[in-house]
Amino acid sequence: MVAKLPQTTEALTYDDVLLVPGLSEVNSRHDVDLAHGRILRLGIPFISSNMDTVTEENMAIAMSNEGGMGIIHRFLTPNRLDQIIKRCRTNNVPVCVSVGINQDSNELLEVALANQVILFCVDVAHGHHTGVAERIKQIKIYTKSYGGATVIAGNVATREGALYLADAGADIIKVGVGPGSHCTTRVVTGHGMPQLTAVSIVHGALVDWWLNNGDIKLPQIEVIADGGIRNSGDIAKAFAAGADYVMLGRLLAGCEETPVDTIFHNGRHSKVYRGMASFEAQKSRGRSDKKIISEGVRSIIPLSGSVADVIGELRGGLASACSYTGALNIAEFKEKAKFIRVTHNSYIEGTPHGRE
Ligand code: IMP
Repeated sequence: MVAKLPQTTEALTYDDVLLVPGLSEVNSRHDVDLAHGRILRLGIPFISSNMDTVTEENMAIAMSNEGGMGIIHRFLTPNRLDQIIKRCRTNNVPVCVSVGINQDSNELLEVALANQVILFCVDVAHGHHTGVAERIKQIKIYTKSYGGATVIAGNVATREGALYLADAGADIIKVGVGPGSHCTTRVVTGHGMPQLTAVSIVHGALVDWWLNNGDIKLPQIEVIADGGIRNSGDIAKAFAAGADYVMLGRLLAGCEETPVDTIFHNGRHSKVYRGMASFEAQKSRGRSDKKIISEGVRSIIPLSGSVADVIGELRGGLASACSYTGALNIAEFKEKAKFIRVTHNSYIEGTPHGRE
């Protein structure tokens, strides 16, 4: 037996669709309430990527100040994680600790448990994995002594992957296999799922899971759309397809608050941004050259200002999107939004053109 070629299913990503404008009563985009998420209850449902060039304490604090959240990356020494947790707490910022499924992550988990952390992200590139299910269950058991924890788990991009993590006890599922701006997983492995379809499939699977297994007293399992978001239009499309939160890497990687020094490059203040599975990132974790199979790239990107500046622009764009749909909040936007499939020519029509 070999894999059958897909016949009827067409998988889509952000540029394959547009949102259709609808009747609106929204007078000003300032009237739109962007608070969203029943589990994380964020003032703005944006989460910074748990990458070593994006989120440590400064980013987590800045995101929290804007109403969003940062997830601390997992390539830290135990001492450094302890320091980050304490610094976040001093600033009254909730801390979400990432762990993987390997030995290094056992040490991070111990630090997090000693600090009674109540928010975890079990993060593996291919999250439809037995090790992820075991880790979720382990965290749920170990945190019982102090009241339990919320567990974000991923990444998956299929119905089966989502149901598997739901059965394992995940509270929030992170979606995205291969859409990231600095990701080469699809090139290197041939695997992935166009992101908008992935978000939609996972959302649908979790609604079904809830109807079959859910405790109506608890909030439904939620979805984070992770990777490939380039602008507020993509954010709006992710919510319309079923996301409850979006995770941003590249969009925040040029911010002053990343844990990366500013450098001067090609006449501009810039910062390094790199995939966590890039050659450089793996080498910095001490892996020998010969053992590295890279699934990401590194680049130098221009400084884009503060998190407040960047989030402010995205917030405005998302509020405007709600206004075009005729929605005063994200829940209403998700109810009312309609997609239309577009051609490549429509895509070109929708980007600036005809200029000198
Ligand atoms: P971006 O917002 O498009 O830059 O995507 C960020 C996301 O890419 C992260 O949150 C991760 O899910 C994913 N990612 C990070 N590093 C790598 C990598 O090296 N390979 C593949 N995906 C990655």
